[in-house]
Amino acid sequence: MQHELAERRHFAGIEGETGRGHASVSAGEKIEWMAYPSLMLAAVLHGKEDLRIEQVPVPVPAFGEVLVRVAAALTCGTDLKVYRRGYHAMMLQPPIPFGHELAGTVAALGAGVSNFEIGDRVVALNSAPCDACFFCTHGQQNLCEDLQFNNGAYADYILIPERIVAKNTLRIPDHVAFEHAALTEPLACVVRGLEETAAQPGDTMIVLGAGPIGLMFMHVAQLAGIDVIAVVKREDQVASARLFGAKQVVRVGDVRDIVATARAMTPGGRGADSVIEAVATPLTWGWAVDMVRKGGTVNFFGGPPSGTRVTLDTNRLHYGDITLKASFHHTPAACRTAFELVTSGRFKAAATITGRAKLSEVPALFQNMLTRSRHLPKLEIKTAVFPGESIDSEIADEEPAFAGAAR
Ligand SMILES: [Zn+2]
Ligand SMILES: [Zn+2]
Repeated sequence: MQHELAERRHFAGIEGETGRGHASVSAGEKIEWMAYPSLMLAAVLHGKEDLRIEQVPVPVPAFGEVLVRVAAALTCGTDLKVYRRGYHAMMLQPPIPFGHELAGTVAALGAGVSNFEIGDRVVALNSAPCDACFFCTHGQQNLCEDLQFNNGAYADYILIPERIVAKNTLRIPDHVAFEHAALTEPLACVVRGLEETAAQPGDTMIVLGAGPIGLMFMHVAQLAGIDVIAVVKREDQVASARLFGAKQVVRVGDVRDIVATARAMTPGGRGADSVIEAVATPLTWGWAVDMVRKGGTVNFFGGPPSGTRVTLDTNRLHYGDITLKASFHHTPAACRTAFELVTSGRFKAAATITGRAKLSEVPALFQNMLTRSRHLPKLEIKTAVFPGESIDSEIADEEPAFAGAAR
């Protein structure tokens, strides 16, 4: 049924007038479309380290939904984690449509969608809250009991559910590249984490870890006027930590006592006003508590595997009057703040994209990420995946003029 419908519109688009228009489909439902094929390529996770590029039907938008032609999808540490484990607690069991950081062009509208038009350049977030549950009505939409997730960014097209269309899909200004706009999601998590930490301009903050999230944290903190000390592991991360705004950097392997060294770098050797843990190990959770000053705040931003237990110095916590926080995910407000950081050009989006790949290369890309993160240190923050190679020729006539312009 789905397939037939897509096919019908495919022919209507190719053989009809312009590829745009209205069609009366079953039960008088009205849908707008631009020409697109009935089948597409998508990366599907079948289990542990089993990612395949498959031909699947292009989804058909129902009421309130939007079909987006993916222009860029970004790799993410969460995806790597899911790839390694073969499942994700908050997603369906395999086969899983894969990828969640994306930007693209609106290709078809379901009935009832009035806030977007065909051809709009958009970033669609990976989730949206219900705004009705206890958590949503208490200012914690990130903890929504009915958080609706969306996956499947590594594909020619992705269907955006009604709720995400209504609450967490943003129109991208023409001067912003798709792959930069796609940074909105991870950056929103960081923005909210920083807000929760309540750090003030002029504060000293230690960021533990210089992976993509650690680096984004350093940069967003620097933009907020905070003095950042980065604690990194690898040699190449020293330069990237500086590039992303760290005033001082220390490499774990270079010193005997990393806690003492990091504390000595803070004003008066008091310890940092706040410490962000972005490594996700029990060891670094402990360091975070040992590096913060009396009265300071620790934000455990990195999430170790479930079941992990940590040992913390209760004496320090109690007599040091230390605040412990943890931050998870984002809210629609944080998404908009992050989006503004990217579109205003304040955030170094271009420096964050360190690799480019085709959709067909995604399985090899993840296999490489897995191996490299274990062995070969090399500066890699995010790879932008550009789908569409297989469909470009087919719908070349309908290609919007701006599709490649902003890259
Ligand atoms: Zn992500
Ligand atoms: Zn809710």
